[in-house]
Amino acid sequence: MLIPSTIPIQSLEHPLLALKNIELAIMRLDLIHPGVSGNKFFKLKYNLEQARKEGKDALLTFGGAYSNHIFATAEAAKAEGFQSIGIIRGERTDPLNPTLAHAESLGMKLHFVDRETYRGKSEPNFINHLENLFGDFYLIPEGGTNESAIKGTREIIGEDEDQFSHLAVSIGTGGTFAGLAGSISSTQKLIGFSSLKGEFIHSEIEQLLSESRIFSEGSYQVNSEYHFGGYGKYNPELIEFIQEFYENFGIVLDPIYTGKMAFGVWDLIKRDGFEPQSKILLIHTGGLQGNLGFTERTGIILPGS
Ligand SMILES: *Cc1c(COP(=O)(O)O)cnc(C)c1O
Repeated sequence: MLIPSTIPIQSLEHPLLALKNIELAIMRLDLIHPGVSGNKFFKLKYNLEQARKEGKDALLTFGGAYSNHIFATAEAAKAEGFQSIGIIRGERTDPLNPTLAHAESLGMKLHFVDRETYRGKSEPNFINHLENLFGDFYLIPEGGTNESAIKGTREIIGEDEDQFSHLAVSIGTGGTFAGLAGSISSTQKLIGFSSLKGEFIHSEIEQLLSESRIFSEGSYQVNSEYHFGGYGKYNPELIEFIQEFYENFGIVLDPIYTGKMAFGVWDLIKRDGFEPQSKILLIHTGGLQGNLGFTERTGIILPGS
């Protein structure tokens, strides 16, 4: 899977931006690959390389029932000739939801475990048990964040992005944030918007950065104010924002990650949280496959579907 040499960046025009004297643009990682969208492409790149080096035939990973990471791993495995096994939190429901149905149609073996068992996903006993069930595999942790993933996410931005004063990205496990923190230049500021509830994310990110030996040349900040009640949670204001964003710019966001990040940036612009003349780059990390499942779950129709 090749990363395209240029990733589209689109400038956004809006009266609010003119009023506040802010430039806003969006990097469209959602467009780089039809199946392995967004940041997951970068997170998987060196993991696939490593799996091949180790002579593994199968990839095994973990995720929830609507996981972008599960979806992307199934796609990448298929494209690169690996078998794939997805350990899924919760019970199997038939028919499968759109995410899992697609993963299974790509050949991913789905193995459902209850929440209690799932919690042991990094314990040696459980991994041994999985090896007994499935044979040898290359393990990718839940959400895909490990050293190889961060090596990949460091490649999301390069010199071309030096023109931006601020970068904004969504945070799940923080692997994407960590890679970006390692790549920004001394004049840039990275802001990560946590899609999970809780202040734990601040220390978790610090720990991830130090474990990954990321010393940022720029400055970075984790914002934990725009989680909308927690992972997968939303309210009408968020949905309305996603709809307006689509009407204004023709760009689809997801309610789990990119919608919350873009909402946060927009809200901060309104509240004069950025100096005039800031040039902000939103990183659209993809995740749009999940919108189908969101609609199925909530009955809420999102733009673009
Ligand atoms: C997985 C995901 C994220 C979070 O990435 P992390 O590296 O886990 O922080 C953000 N946006 C989208 C669309 C994702 O699928």
